[in-house]
Amino acid sequence: MAWKTIEKPRAWTLAPNLLDYEKTRETFSWEEARRALDGLPDGRLNIAYEAVDRHALGSRRDHLALRWLGRSGETRDFTYGELAKQTNRFANVLKKLGLARGERVFLLAGRIPELYISALGALKGGHVFCPLFSAFGPEPIRQRISLADGRVLVTTAALFKRKVAEVCASLPGLKHILLIGEPGEINAIAGTHDFRLLMAQAGEDFAIASTQPEDLALLHFTSGTTGTPKGAMHVHEAVVAHYMTGRIALDFHPGDIFWCTADPGWVTGTSYGIIAPLTHGITSIVNEADFDAEQWYRIVQEQRVSVWYTAPTAVRMMMKVGTDVIRKYDFSSLRLIASVGEPLNPEGVVWGQKAFGLPIHDNWWQTETGGIMIANYLALDIRPGSMGRPLPGIEAGIVRRVGDNAVEEVTQPGVEGELALRPGWPSMFRGYLNDEERYRKCFIGGWYLTGDLARRDADGYFWFVGRADDVIKSSGHLIGPFEVESLLLEHPAVAEAGVIGKPDPVAGEVVKAFVSLKPAYTWNDKLRRELLGFARQRLGAVVAPREIDCVANVPKTRSGKIMRRLLKARELGLAEGDLSTLESQ
Ligand code: ATP
Ligand code: MG
Repeated sequence: MAWKTIEKPRAWTLAPNLLDYEKTRETFSWEEARRALDGLPDGRLNIAYEAVDRHALGSRRDHLALRWLGRSGETRDFTYGELAKQTNRFANVLKKLGLARGERVFLLAGRIPELYISALGALKGGHVFCPLFSAFGPEPIRQRISLADGRVLVTTAALFKRKVAEVCASLPGLKHILLIGEPGEINAIAGTHDFRLLMAQAGEDFAIASTQPEDLALLHFTSGTTGTPKGAMHVHEAVVAHYMTGRIALDFHPGDIFWCTADPGWVTGTSYGIIAPLTHGITSIVNEADFDAEQWYRIVQEQRVSVWYTAPTAVRMMMKVGTDVIRKYDFSSLRLIASVGEPLNPEGVVWGQKAFGLPIHDNWWQTETGGIMIANYLALDIRPGSMGRPLPGIEAGIVRRVGDNAVEEVTQPGVEGELALRPGWPSMFRGYLNDEERYRKCFIGGWYLTGDLARRDADGYFWFVGRADDVIKSSGHLIGPFEVESLLLEHPAVAEAGVIGKPDPVAGEVVKAFVSLKPAYTWNDKLRRELLGFARQRLGAVVAPREIDCVANVPKTRSGKIMRRLLKARELGLAEGDLSTLESQ
């Protein structure tokens, strides 16, 4: 595919934080980065102190930290001073309940202010915060709380009744359930506490736990795209990376209005939906409602969002709605749009420019890395379809496994292999919950192996090929589903595409595609043949799909990732595996 590089301006009205990539890489050190934070006496560090108290105690006390936009149109604002008091109250609530350092506080709620207060309050007390996506059913909830030996659960009265009540009895370690809701509805539920009442009774002062940088702080379950979700454990030191990536990859400047559309049930919604913007003392927008293109455009316009962090699935949904509606809105406040979670199809990058006047900057990371590792920076030219270049302080490489316990680095440009990172960055996960063996196996020959396949070009840009589990081997060729999906998206009829390898006696595997269509199109044999021909002409016979089917929706995880393993299981009539994170269809 011939996508032209998008060249960046050489003169800026507001200079990006990262202007000279090479030079910054040379001089960067994580020790130096740590000095941008305040820290606690004796080398201690606490995420919530860096995110809230240091601003509340300083000149940003009255600056807007969080603006919450409720589902029914209401707004609630929290200054840094107010957030400090509220999070102190919650830390006091946990203290009164007798919660010990390191014990797990689970959160099951939509994007409501209490979620943000609980997360930061739990960190202040030195407890481990573990978010659960609010759409999980009872069994995924039970499984995760039980696996992590959760001690406290904060949830809403409604979610409790619908999902938690039936599994409580099988969670003996879960000592306290705090319900958010109206007093009347809560009083009736035995064995629970009224969150708001406890908060009202708690004091506004709290001496923050003087946590060690290596103390556990966050537990995040992965998206479950390739199998049963894993619990990735992160420590307080991670905040150094949250801060630095906010500075370099998301280009936070004082006065920015930042909107991360991810839900805190996933790592992006915590690292960037809660922590990173607050460490910079800027304003973060929280939107309670789910995706709605026009409502989103209205938020950007009305809130004067300057940095917008979203995901390819949202970009594809916006593309599906089209650009006509966009013309009604003013996007002049936007300075940077970034995306993460899946490969961003080149079509999406370029569409951003047409729609908003700004290309969309793809970046790559995963639950295990805790923060952005590879990015397209504001000041660097974009190669649409590329994830960009490694962050200063991050060494990324392409490696090949040789045998069970060794890897060799692939140094030739353009050759694919597994994407690997040199361990040692602050937000690197410190373990998989209850699975030491699996954790150990991720590190070979001085590299952390990510499980993703990629290529590096001669200029150091990384290109995503596919997940190691999704890659298709056909007639001796390795085919990444992303390449095929991106091409199919270029056809005007296609809204979404998911591509798998289907076993074939001759080729080993052949490429099979599933597409969903834009509203104006209907599926018939003519369109199928047209798509097959379109793909064959552009991709060549080996890479192009041999079969294309139409589906109403391509199955996705709740964080918006295409679940190719499910497409494959269904196609082959195999067991569907762990579906706890499947988006309802
Ligand atoms: P599981 O590990 O349970 O299968 P998951 O890998 O989808 O789930 P996450 O940690 O949420 O869970 O997602 C990280 C993965 O998402 C990356 O390893 C990569 O495969 C994909 N990803 C994230 N950002 C990008 C990107 N910009 N380009 C391509 N792939 C991306
Ligand atoms: Mg993963």
